[in-house]
Amino acid sequence: MRTVKVQFTWWWLQILAVQLTLIHAIPPAAPLQCQDGGAGGCTLFNSYGVWNDRRDCRVLNATYPKTEQELVSAVAYANKNKLKVKVVSKFSHTIPKLACPDGGGGVLISTSEYGSGIEIDEAGLAVTVDAGVGLRQLIDAVEAAGLSLAASPYWEGVSVGGLISTGSHGSSWWGRGGAVHDHVTGVSLVVPAKPSEGYAKVVRIGEKDPLFNAARLSLGMLGVISKVSFQLVISSNSWLSG
Ligand SMILES: Cc1cc2nc3c(=O)[nH]c(=O)nc-3n(C[C@H](O)[C@H](O)[C@H](O)COP(=O)(O)OP(=O)(O)OC[C@H]3O[C@@H](n4cnc5c(N)ncnc54)[C@H](O)[C@@H]3O)c2cc1C
Repeated sequence: MRTVKVQFTWWWLQILAVQLTLIHAIPPAAPLQCQDGGAGGCTLFNSYGVWNDRRDCRVLNATYPKTEQELVSAVAYANKNKLKVKVVSKFSHTIPKLACPDGGGGVLISTSEYGSGIEIDEAGLAVTVDAGVGLRQLIDAVEAAGLSLAASPYWEGVSVGGLISTGSHGSSWWGRGGAVHDHVTGVSLVVPAKPSEGYAKVVRIGEKDPLFNAARLSLGMLGVISKVSFQLVISSNSWLSG
């Protein structure tokens, strides 16, 4: 009886070992795929494309700026050529139709390569980040400085620009509450401009600006968010270790 039990366990361990070597966790494919380097158009998929309102979105082309200046050039090009434009993040967790310009006839600006800028002001308990920065990347950076975001959705695979534009939230009644945009203190927007201004410009919108509430929760309708500033709190990890 004891031999049968040992053999049974041995077989289970072998099956488990085979499964562990065959199964690999891989991140979802990039939601924006372009054919022939963009010449054949691009398709925006939803990372979780299982719901029927998450149909793919076809666009004429897509651009991948790396700096705020390149974002300005992308908006200027679209404005000059009278193209409809919307923004999509590296993650695209929202329904594609939210990020689909002109029912598919326009162009997309992806923030997937615009995510390196994180400037922490430790004394002022504040951080200013590029809109393409991922939430996990932001949390790691501020925690390393002994600070924390005051609110966060439970899902980390989202960008700063996408999460504030859609009013993403956790759950808290403490302080200003669990909606991330309620902890935003400033937004920089790239907006279309007159030809004499180069067809696009950056506007910096602070808390006292009458456009502030619209700019921080815009569903991507007011321009391209280039930078976002957040008020931070002292990390609870610092209290525990200090
Ligand atoms: C598994 C899962 C769990 C989730 N959990 C939560 C949760 O706990 N709480 C919650 O509130 N939400 C949750 N969500 C929803 C998620 O937070 C939102 O869908 C969020 O908008 C996704 O961010 P994104 O970076 O993928 O944005 P995208 O889907 O790329 O974009 C969202 C919208 O913002 C616009 N946008 C993006 N970047 C910019 C920019 N730089 N400038 C201007 N407009 C821009 C786009 O045009 C689009 O309209 C969850 C989603 C999933 C799939």
